[in-house]
Amino acid sequence: LGGSLRNALKKIASANKIDKALVDEAVREIQRALLQADVNVKLVMQLSNTIKSRALDEKPAPGMNPREHVINIVYQELINLVGRGADIPLKKQNIMLVGLQGSGKTTTAAKLATFFQRKGLRTAVICADTFRAGAYDQLKALCEKQGIFFYGEKGNTDAPAVARNGLEATKKYDIRIVDTAGRHALEGDLIQEMKDIHAVVNADQKLLVMDAALGQQASEQAKAFNEAVNITGVIITKLDGTAKGGGALSAVAETKTSVAFIGVGETPADLERFEADRFISRMLGMGDIKTLIERAQEVQTEQEVDVESLMRGKFTLKDMYQQMEAMNKLGPLKQIMQMLPMGGLGFELSDKEYQMTKDRLDKYRVVMDSMTAAELDDPKIITASRIKRISQGSGASPDLVRELLKSHQAMQKALKGMRGGMGKMNMKR
Ligand code: GDP
Ligand code: MG
Repeated sequence: LGGSLRNALKKIASANKIDKALVDEAVREIQRALLQADVNVKLVMQLSNTIKSRALDEKPAPGMNPREHVINIVYQELINLVGRGADIPLKKQNIMLVGLQGSGKTTTAAKLATFFQRKGLRTAVICADTFRAGAYDQLKALCEKQGIFFYGEKGNTDAPAVARNGLEATKKYDIRIVDTAGRHALEGDLIQEMKDIHAVVNADQKLLVMDAALGQQASEQAKAFNEAVNITGVIITKLDGTAKGGGALSAVAETKTSVAFIGVGETPADLERFEADRFISRMLGMGDIKTLIERAQEVQTEQEVDVESLMRGKFTLKDMYQQMEAMNKLGPLKQIMQMLPMGGLGFELSDKEYQMTKDRLDKYRVVMDSMTAAELDDPKIITASRIKRISQGSGASPDLVRELLKSHQAMQKALKGMRGGMGKMNMKR
């Protein structure tokens, strides 16, 4: 799936002009990926319409080519959908966790406590789950393992009372996290119980914990909890699994809240701050689009490389050096390739070619300074005796000279292997 989306974006990436058919195709693939990730149908439709009309109506920003224009719009709209993430400040506050049974509240209570404790805040956890047998022991064990203060009352079934007593007993703590009981579904007295605990705790943060595997029911849940306690943020758990969290994300968009953290495993350390771009990339199953665009925008001058002529074989050592220099400025080549939504433009390079460090570039520069103009223009003429001369002149080993020539051959081959019809590719430097 990520693959067909990549293909659609690859087509855009290689197009000189963006037309309706191309945008439609890309949007169809984006729709498919989002629906597969459980994003709400209505949201997907809204998003596609906005992307389509913006891509075709808006003029690309100065310095942006058509493909960057479209990819940038896709990215902006996805960020709009996902939101920037809830900001949970590192200060004295009370936090209440709500959510259905099994969503990960208790585990998350221990994760959050660990998170704040590591930031140097005195943290305590209160067990206000008086519904499920074993809730007390589970949370107590998790907290003790992390050296976090735990408050609970085994046997007391009055959850608001336990919460009140817990707050009383933990006054000297900066962060107080209240874990609550869930139910298998939105049923019985769950919502009333949350309202009652909320009335006592009056938490600064009311965080809804949702399983990433939740599908279209996520919205209903989010609405119910939001009405009951006015949630201030969402934590999406179990993102270490196969679920992409699109259902929970739709609920976030619909209730106009935002994601605060994500859970990525079962241990207390498996909690991460929510980062919209990483989340999107993962949801769509592709590389890190945002970083790519930012880096592309940072680069100032733009050099047009005529791929057609490169593929005809006119690829001099100077060309190679320029390309390597450009790639080096963008970052490690391998990383760049992985970030490209178009799948690295079909380059097939070995690990050695990927490791284009500044160090290696400097060495190549020295070697190339000892070459004649004719050699730089047509490295095929460089025979063994010429290698010896270049090596002596530059002080580099003959092996290094040969390595440089081999790199050139590999890159030339990669370029030749690129499919035709790509037209001009913009290489930034
Ligand atoms: P609660 O009923 O909402 O309190 O849910 P629990 O905290 O008891 O978690 C239910 C199950 O989900 C437990 O087996 C947890 O270990 C597991 N769990 C919670 N968060 C995560 C997560 O981020 N990743 C994974 N893989 N498992 C999780
Ligand atoms: Mg629990």
